[in-house]
Amino acid sequence: MEGSVANEPELSALRRALLAWYDQNGREMPWRQRGGSLPDPYHVLVSEAMLQQTQVATVIPYFNRFIRELPTLAALAAAPEQQVLRLWQGLGYYTRARSLRAAAVAVLQHFGGTLPRTAEELRQLPGVGPYTAGAIASIAFNQPAAILDGNVARVLSRLWRVTEPIDQPAVRARLWELAQASVDPQRPGDFNQAVMDLGALVCTPKAPACLTCPLYAQCAAAQAGEAEALPARLPRKAPRAVTHLVLALHRRDTWLLERRPARGMWANLWQFPTSEDEVPHLVGWALAHLGLKVAAPAHLGGFTQQTTHRTIRFEVHQAQVIGGRLRPKAGVWRKLGELQDLPMANPQQHVAQLLRNARARG
Ligand code: SF4
Repeated sequence: MEGSVANEPELSALRRALLAWYDQNGREMPWRQRGGSLPDPYHVLVSEAMLQQTQVATVIPYFNRFIRELPTLAALAAAPEQQVLRLWQGLGYYTRARSLRAAAVAVLQHFGGTLPRTAEELRQLPGVGPYTAGAIASIAFNQPAAILDGNVARVLSRLWRVTEPIDQPAVRARLWELAQASVDPQRPGDFNQAVMDLGALVCTPKAPACLTCPLYAQCAAAQAGEAEALPARLPRKAPRAVTHLVLALHRRDTWLLERRPARGMWANLWQFPTSEDEVPHLVGWALAHLGLKVAAPAHLGGFTQQTTHRTIRFEVHQAQVIGGRLRPKAGVWRKLGELQDLPMANPQQHVAQLLRNARARG
């Protein structure tokens, strides 16, 4: 069975064991339905967008708030992007929020307001890749579609003892084939969710609990004593270290916030003026970038943010504006207690907190 699809009897036993385990141990989630009924497809769409790169426990409160405020696909399509970003604030990877809203608009424009049922059609929507399409098709519409993300790839690579690095495209393609061959034709959504739950609860990255796993008898890696060693991966490139210089500018008790460009990281979110180059003189940078003359900046502190490819050191300074004229549309002035309607990524929220702390200390 190593690296190949098992014959039908083995697959049937695997599906039965996994689904029986899921019926007893599957996790409760607000977007899930148990006992044979299908969930609201819109809830599945929103939850799957939020779950990319994010843990279930983090997603649950965001999901509940999102559905309370935007209860239908039509409400999401009609919502301003800034409202959607505000609901997403703190979840990170904001492209997901913009794509989710764009997907809702596309469903209204091209599919008569109803989410399509098949993975092929779902993939036509913005931000919906093969994983999300398979998840929605199987969970919301009971279609026999496969899913494959890091969690599922780990389980499958162990189950079928795929020993080549799973980040190679050819190996990835083979894992998709295995996922498609494995999915239960009667209960595809439950099967996929069962694999996800097994990966989260039992077949964990560092300490798979093989001896209590419902798939132990079918698992090639467990039988070979190699579960912890899989999946194999190619060596990763070290993240690039960069420094961002924040210059928080105030005029009496109001602070300048600027909007980030519409493309790139943290697109369209708000920030205290920030130079992503290590400029030698922040006073000169403020004049050139914003048109403002500022007093000598004071260093408030620093912190580090890890992103997928970069380790970003934020060095935070504050300075008083003493003259000049703010360039048109360069930003808005706000009190620190009035930032709620300006969606900001986590590092900039951290800057706001540093400023509040400094103010509180006087
Ligand atoms: Fe994962 Fe171990 Fe279960 Fe195999 S037996 S699926 S390695 S937990």
